[in-house]
Amino acid sequence: MDGRQTRPAGAAAARRAGGRRVTGPQALAVAVETPQHSAVGGLLDYTSERPLAPGTLLRVPLGRREVPGIVWDRGPAPPAAGLELRPVGTVLSALPPLPADWRALVDFAAAYYQRGVGELALAVLPPELRKLDDTQLARRVARLQREAAAPSAAVPAPPARPVLSAEQAAALEIVSRADRPLLLHGVTGSGKTEVYLRAAEQALAAGRQALVLVPEINLTPQLQARFAERFPGRVLVSLHSALTPAQRLRHWLLAHLGLADLVLGTRLAVFTPLPRLGLVVVDEEHDPSFKQQEGARYSARDLAVWRAAQRGVPVLLGSATPSLESWQRALQGRYRRVEMAERIGGGAMPRVRIVDMSVLPRPAQGERVLAPALLDALHGRLARGEQSLLLLNRRGYAPVLHCAACGWKSGCPHCSAWRVFHKGDRTLRCHHCGLTERVPRACPDCGNLDIAPIGRGTEKLQEQLAALLPGARIARLDADTTRGAGMLEQQLGAVHAGEVDVLVGTQMLAKGHDFRRVTLVAAVNPDAALFSSDFRGPERLFALLMQAAGRAGRDAAQAAASEMWVQTHHPRHPLFAALRAHDYPAFAAAQLEERRQAGLPPCAALALLRAEARDAAVATAFLHDAAALAAGGDFGGGVTVYPPVPPPVSKVADVERVQMLLESPSRRALQALLAGWLPALHGLRAKHKGLLRWAVDVDPLAI
Ligand code: ADP
Ligand code: ZN
Ligand code: ZN
Repeated sequence: MDGRQTRPAGAAAARRAGGRRVTGPQALAVAVETPQHSAVGGLLDYTSERPLAPGTLLRVPLGRREVPGIVWDRGPAPPAAGLELRPVGTVLSALPPLPADWRALVDFAAAYYQRGVGELALAVLPPELRKLDDTQLARRVARLQREAAAPSAAVPAPPARPVLSAEQAAALEIVSRADRPLLLHGVTGSGKTEVYLRAAEQALAAGRQALVLVPEINLTPQLQARFAERFPGRVLVSLHSALTPAQRLRHWLLAHLGLADLVLGTRLAVFTPLPRLGLVVVDEEHDPSFKQQEGARYSARDLAVWRAAQRGVPVLLGSATPSLESWQRALQGRYRRVEMAERIGGGAMPRVRIVDMSVLPRPAQGERVLAPALLDALHGRLARGEQSLLLLNRRGYAPVLHCAACGWKSGCPHCSAWRVFHKGDRTLRCHHCGLTERVPRACPDCGNLDIAPIGRGTEKLQEQLAALLPGARIARLDADTTRGAGMLEQQLGAVHAGEVDVLVGTQMLAKGHDFRRVTLVAAVNPDAALFSSDFRGPERLFALLMQAAGRAGRDAAQAAASEMWVQTHHPRHPLFAALRAHDYPAFAAAQLEERRQAGLPPCAALALLRAEARDAAVATAFLHDAAALAAGGDFGGGVTVYPPVPPPVSKVADVERVQMLLESPSRRALQALLAGWLPALHGLRAKHKGLLRWAVDVDPLAI
């Protein structure tokens, strides 16, 4: 679908914009934010006294308001003559127009993910741009240009670069003559970052800019430091949601003006205008954080590939455990696979030990936290002054409180979920709607004083470990302990400084940290993910465990003694066999076969239509009508529409959610259906009173 097709006919647009004046030929299309379900794709017609280049930022009247807009490329159909169009408002001429390739990216993304062009275009600009007038903007641009032109202070000499390993050198050679996207499949510690650095160096030497995308920038200050150290005197900017609005504008402007050489950012950075773009890197390309989970639900990884192809520049997707999507494309030859199988310094991957928890006798009292052999191994690490990481993917103390007398459980009154017991501040917290209350002293239903936590989160594990490992310095790293500014850096610093013996945490632990003294990593209870309703559960778990294993033995001297422990009730699960052999290809082959048989991605294309209402019946009725429209319309066929079902957590904050899955072996067929069908759904809305919202998620992560 072309973004322009959603543009209303010229007359409708003019009426919508509320125009009065009859004007001549200087009509132009402007991308504006329109209400999501107004059936307006986001391009409206206005007039201008003087010609304005596409990409120009301006303000335009819309109804009684003035809204930001961007002059857009006009479609093939010129507006009908003699229409009443309103003139544009203020033009922000201080800002160079957003370039054609940026507009093409936005057009593509809006069409593919089924959102308005204007909505998407304006959502990905720094919010601060809306607040400034042309004079203020001109001042900022001039200041940045002045700073760039000023002779810089003495630039420190770049550090000596390491001699590339044979695998790194081979990889770099392939980057320099890339004819398709590259999938850099390198085990943890194989030196992928060094390949990114060298590829960036080549791009910079050629006068180009490099864009490096990472899943979560606040977890990777080390990466930023490595780039900054390697390229002294170069302008390196970051772009992510933790910046202040002023910083974000400044960094974005530096990129757009062509003054920044390197842009390091999270998914939103994929939309940064980069006039001299020469390289795109997506680190940890398998990470789900690259998929936006609200509004336009785009995949920054997939858009990065599209963008690089359109600009004709190399794109490098790096991971130790690639997404099955990228892996399959590499198998098909659409991506070129580059392997780095050796750790730098020849360190071995940690030995994987699978502990069968089902054969261990129940302890006389309480529950079994750790297998005796794992506890011994932890004691050994403590005695040698080495560090251990314990992974438990659940924060809080216990996932639910329970009254044995009457069966009460700590459900959330507003969600179909349990409220989690946080012992530190004695609260019950819903992780879906945020509802937080003090823990009741007694069962709210029957008054029983003996309400007990069921299950275990990181907080409880930390407490249990303190009892099992007296004297050990035990720290915890999860969303609760890193909430405040600088908390994460502080905690990681303590680990690096050797002030921590055992670090307990959620998956946050596994992501990219270069811990040097860790020789033991253990997954305490990973079984839930093996049989989860999420079809990506095993893929996620495998990536997490491989990633976690990669935290151990990063110092080659210690690699021989390093271990990855997994406690499970299903020791013969094939996932663990592949993990033990560090065999991603075998795991991927088995998963791809399962996905093929089940008709799931990457062997099929999916979209989800989600509907929300206070009453689930209303949402379901809307989806049934939508399904009837899909069946009745002539949208090319080849798409299966499944019956509406509630998602795993169906009610959140008193809103019921229902979803309907669309599946096709052909991405093209699915796109064709969506393009024809979704606009027709707008007409259904009026019939379904009480429907709060609906939206489509193309290539959803979970179903
Ligand atoms: P990955 O990203 O693949 O996990 P890194 O790029 O972080 O691996 O490299 C692991 C470690 O090896 C880092 O400390 C890095 O500085 C070091 N390293 C990378 N390449 C080389 C090299 N060619 N020679 C020496 N050390 C290297
Ligand atoms: Zn009770
Ligand atoms: Zn809730």
